[in-house]
Amino acid sequence: MTKFAVKYSEPVLIPVRGSEKQFPVNMVYCVGRNYAAHAREMGTDERQPPLFFSKPGWTVNAAGSNIPFPSSTSDLQHEIELVLAMGSEQNIYGFAVGVDLTRRDLQARAKREGRPWFSAKVFTGAAPVSKIIPTDDNFDFSNLMLELSVNGEVRQSASCRDMIWSPADIIRNLAGEAQVKSGDLIFTGTPAGVSTIKKEDKIHAEINGVVGLDFTII
Ligand code: MN
Repeated sequence: MTKFAVKYSEPVLIPVRGSEKQFPVNMVYCVGRNYAAHAREMGTDERQPPLFFSKPGWTVNAAGSNIPFPSSTSDLQHEIELVLAMGSEQNIYGFAVGVDLTRRDLQARAKREGRPWFSAKVFTGAAPVSKIIPTDDNFDFSNLMLELSVNGEVRQSASCRDMIWSPADIIRNLAGEAQVKSGDLIFTGTPAGVSTIKKEDKIHAEINGVVGLDFTII
């Protein structure tokens, strides 16, 4: 007999490189404006404290195959990001590359009207994530290079060294505002070069030489 009054919703599971075990997704936290050049391309000041928002765990697409073009937008954009996979409140279990898909037109309207970013950021397939690479707490993320291409053309290319807030800074700030738990993913912000993607576009995102992610918008 089960103790649940309704059907228990299983978490999304992400494969872990080199392991039979899978990473169960809890919350997806995201940082806005963590690279100065992207903050400038969004028309904002790069010296503000980290800005957090979240996506439900069900937005994670770990299969990396096809993502349906979402409704209600004519400006879907890619944001490649280093993703931290949390093992406990303060400890990083591993990392991955992810894409924070964004309905930019809805985000612009939300900013104009002083409304939340919910509609801009939350939809089926909004958070594709690669396999998770286990690591340890001393890992130096600043040596990682992010690169995203659309149909073979490079749109975003940057070093994690250029993050305004380091992974340790992000976790410390986030833990001061919200609960950080095992299974949480933290998208650490995107560098410059975000652009519009359309149906049938093939997106490749990678941490150079470490891990990649491919999906097609259908
Ligand atoms: Mn983002």
